[in-house]
Amino acid sequence: MNQRTNLPEDMRCVVLIGIDFDGPSHEVGRGIAPLGKHSWGNYSARCGVPRHMDMLDGHGIKGTFFVPGYDAERHPDTIARVDQRNFEVAAHGYLHEAWELGLEEEEALLRKTDRILRDVIGKPVLGWRSPSGRKSDRTMAVLKSMGYIYDSSDKDYDRPYRLRFGKGPDDVIVELPNNTYSLDDFPFYKFSHTPPSEVLGQWKSEFDAIYGHDRFFVMSLHPRAGWGSGTPSRTRALSDLITYMKGHDGVQFMDYRTFAQWCQQHRDNLEEVSFA
Ligand SMILES: [Zn+2]
Repeated sequence: MNQRTNLPEDMRCVVLIGIDFDGPSHEVGRGIAPLGKHSWGNYSARCGVPRHMDMLDGHGIKGTFFVPGYDAERHPDTIARVDQRNFEVAAHGYLHEAWELGLEEEEALLRKTDRILRDVIGKPVLGWRSPSGRKSDRTMAVLKSMGYIYDSSDKDYDRPYRLRFGKGPDDVIVELPNNTYSLDDFPFYKFSHTPPSEVLGQWKSEFDAIYGHDRFFVMSLHPRAGWGSGTPSRTRALSDLITYMKGHDGVQFMDYRTFAQWCQQHRDNLEEVSFA
C-alpha cells in the first residue's frame, strides 16, 4: 500500500538544523558535578547557544533546540530567549536519560519535562528527540497524548515517514529520523578529534549526496565545548556549511515543527511504517 516517501520537486532538499542543548543535565544525570573540567554543559548556556542563535540569525534561517528539562530549570532565561528569538524549543529528556527506564518513570519524566518547557516558553511543545535514541514501545503514545506531532529519535531511514504505533486512527506520529554518525558533530569531536575544516568537508560531501536524491538533511548538533560545535571555529564550520547549502537551488531551511506540520498536511507523500 505504501509508496516510498516522496518530497515535491520544489523541495530539492529540506534542511533541519537541530541543536541538542545538552547542558549540565548530561553530567548531573551521571552523578557528576558540572564544575571544573565537567563544566562543558554550562558552556552550552553561556556561550554555545547564544553563538548558534547569532549564527543562524545571521543567515536568516530557523532551527530547533532540543532541551532537557533539568537544563531549562537551571537556565530558564536562556531557553526563554531561544523562544523569543523565534527558534523552536523541543524536548530532550529530563536528565538526558541515556539509560533504560521503567515505563512509569519514563512517562513521569516525559510529562515533567513538558511542563517545565511549557512554563518557560508559555506555549505548547510539539516535538521530542530522545537522549541517545533510547525509547520504549510506550513513548510515542505518551508524546501523542501530550499533543506532540513529531519524534526525531530513530536511526532507521533516510527520509521522513509516518510512524504508526497503535491500531487507532490517531496512533500515528511524524518521524524525522536522524543520522547520528555522519550528520552529528559528536563522533567527530569526541572520538576521532577531527579538525573543523575536515568536518566541514565531510558534511559538504553528505549534502552533495543527499541533495536531489533523498533530499532530507537532518543535523544533530551540540552547543557545547568539548564534543560539541559551540566554540568559535566549530560554529564557523557550521556557518560555512550553511553558506554552501544556500548556494544550491531549492534548499529549504525549516525548524522541525514547521516541516512536521508540512508532513501532516501532505500525508499522501509519506510512507507509513507500523510498529504496532
Ligand atoms: Zn543530547
